[in-house]
Amino acid sequence: MMYSEYPIFILGGGSNILFTKDYDGAVLKNEIKGIELQHEDGEHVYVKVGAGENWHQFVLYCINHNWAGVENLSLIPGNIGASPIQNIGAYGVELDDVFWSLEAFHLSERKIHTFTATDCEFGYRDSVFKNRYKNEFAILSVTFQLKKKPVYHVSYGAIAEELEKMGVKDLNIKIVSQAVVNIRSSKLPDPKIIPNAGSFFKNPEVSTEKYEELKLNFPDVIAYPLAKGTVKLAAGWMIEQCGWKGYRKGDAGCHAKQALVLVNYGNAAGKEIYDLSEEILLSVNEKFGVLLEREVNIL
Ligand SMILES: Cc1cc2nc3c(=O)[nH]c(=O)nc-3n(C[C@H](O)[C@H](O)[C@H](O)COP(=O)(O)OP(=O)(O)OC[C@H]3O[C@@H](n4cnc5c(N)ncnc54)[C@H](O)[C@@H]3O)c2cc1C
Repeated sequence: MMYSEYPIFILGGGSNILFTKDYDGAVLKNEIKGIELQHEDGEHVYVKVGAGENWHQFVLYCINHNWAGVENLSLIPGNIGASPIQNIGAYGVELDDVFWSLEAFHLSERKIHTFTATDCEFGYRDSVFKNRYKNEFAILSVTFQLKKKPVYHVSYGAIAEELEKMGVKDLNIKIVSQAVVNIRSSKLPDPKIIPNAGSFFKNPEVSTEKYEELKLNFPDVIAYPLAKGTVKLAAGWMIEQCGWKGYRKGDAGCHAKQALVLVNYGNAAGKEIYDLSEEILLSVNEKFGVLLEREVNIL
């Protein structure tokens, strides 16, 4: 995409990008700030947030104002502007559950467009901005529809167990957020200490026939049936079965506690991390006949 004589790349917090080489163009760091209550009705508040605001700080702001809906998405690194790009999600909640609209600047038309949830074509770690409109728009702001009365999602993952450990009797959004923070801090490597980009691969979706075939050869295969009739497989489990968990080659590695996360122990070049991801991808395909897709944006 060209908007001037240079190609342009929009950078948020940089937590979901792997640079494999220098970028031959201009990098625009989005720093648009501001959190504004637009309007409210009986059940909801509508809050417009600048793309350059930090995601977790926004979650904390919502909790302080008793606006419910984003508490399960606590501690996801990065900024507001990137949150619709891959429809961020964790612990049973996705961005599209709280998304109302966004404003984005078309870099070559030089016009601002408004997108509804339907326009964004949200999917699992996916949106129109990763596909048809890749690198065409700079997201300026996102408007969220948040609940005045919380609906708790605590049956997913280890949340219920963590709440019990915390001795919680009465739920509130602050407590749910704290439970998520506790779990994430114990499981995921902190990028400030061991650089990483979170889950490197998406959990692949396969047909029920493919799943049945896999189950015959691998009875322990971890899978989640989806409402639409397909089956989601745990990429981390498959990577682990191929022996990658805890693997290290130079400074590039596969995290010892979470096989889905590739880490940089020091001075690995982006290309070394990419090459390791390619080896992992090939070995999973060879063992299971399943082609993993990278979640991280590669440049
Ligand atoms: C430890 C760790 C844990 C993570 N856990 C999760 C998780 O649980 N769930 C999850 O979904 N993700 C997770 N991630 C991934 C990451 O946090 C999200 O993808 C996040 O939204 C990235 O935000 P960012 O601002 O850092 O985006 P960047 O990495 O800067 O950019 C990501 C992509 O979005 C584009 N982009 C960024 N801002 C804009 C904008 N304003 N307009 C247009 N395009 C833009 C960039 O060009 C790039 O293609 C995790 C990452 C880490 C490091």
